[in-house]
Amino acid sequence: MIEHDNLQRFIFDNAPVRGEYIHLGESFQTIAGQHDYPPAVRQLLGEALCVAGLLTAIIKFKGRLTVQFRGKGKLKLLLAQCNNNFNVRGLVKCDDDLTYQDLMEAFNDGVLVIMLDGGSTKRNYQGVVSWRGNSLVESIEGYFRDSEQLATKLWLSVNKNEAAGLLLQVLPGIEKSPHGLEQDIVSLHWERLTAVTSAVSPDDMLNMSYENLLRKLYPKEEVRIFAPQEITFRCTCSRKRGEEAIGLLGVEEAEAELKDKQVIVVTCDFCNKEYVFDKVDVAAVFAKKGSSETHLH
Ligand SMILES: [Zn+2]
Repeated sequence: MIEHDNLQRFIFDNAPVRGEYIHLGESFQTIAGQHDYPPAVRQLLGEALCVAGLLTAIIKFKGRLTVQFRGKGKLKLLLAQCNNNFNVRGLVKCDDDLTYQDLMEAFNDGVLVIMLDGGSTKRNYQGVVSWRGNSLVESIEGYFRDSEQLATKLWLSVNKNEAAGLLLQVLPGIEKSPHGLEQDIVSLHWERLTAVTSAVSPDDMLNMSYENLLRKLYPKEEVRIFAPQEITFRCTCSRKRGEEAIGLLGVEEAEAELKDKQVIVVTCDFCNKEYVFDKVDVAAVFAKKGSSETHLH
C-alpha cells in the first residue's frame, strides 16, 4: 500500500548522506482543488508544496516555512507553506492559460524567497533564492550550494492527484566529524548516490511505496529508514485574522463597504473560507483598535 501524505527520512549507513522522501495525496488534492487551477499551475503548486515539506524536514526549527514568489509578470504569487507539525497549505495567482514553461519563465520577473517564521517572539529568517535554469529544482539546489555550502539534490514528480519529492543532502558538518571523512571521499559517495537516484522514474516516485522505491534505487546500499511523519492540509486562517484585515482596510473604507453590502466578507485566499462581519462586528473591530474618532454610525 502507498502511504499518502507522508514524509519519510532515511540515511545511508555507509555514506555521509541523508535523504527525505515526500508523498502528498489528499493534502495536495485539497489545496489544488481550492481554486480552478489549470494543469501546469497544479503541477507547480505540487512541486512547491513538496519543496516546502522537504525543506521543513531538513531545516529543523519551530514555526512555519514558506516558499514564496512575488512577481510582476504572468506569475503574480506562489505560496507554499509547511509548519513544524507538517501542516501544509498553498496558493498560486497567475494569468490564465499558462504552460508550465511560461510559468518557469515568469519566475525571472520577480523574487523567490524561503522564509522561516518562528512567531513574533523569535527571530525570523528570509533567504533570496536566485532563479536558475528556469527550474524550481535547480534554483533550490543552487540556494543550498550558495548559502549553506551543502551539496543538495532534489527530484520532483507531480500528476493530477499526487505530488512526490526526493531530496538528498550531504550531512552537515561531516568533514569536521570524528570520523574525519575527507572531502574527496564524501564526494565519491555523493556522486554515486546522486547518479543512481537520478535514474528514478517519475512514475515510480508517485506509485511505489517508499520501501520499494528505496530498495529499487539503492539495492547495494544499507538504507536506514525512520518513522514516517504524517502531513496534512491545515489552514491557519481565523476570524481574528479577518478582524485584522478589516482593521487594515480602515474605518472609511469599511463604512463604505457596509453601506454597499450590509456586511463585509473576508475570504481566506488559501482555503476560500468566508468570515462574515456585520455592522456590529465591524464597530467592535474599530472600538478594539481604541481610536476615539473611529466610531461607526
Ligand atoms: Zn484559510
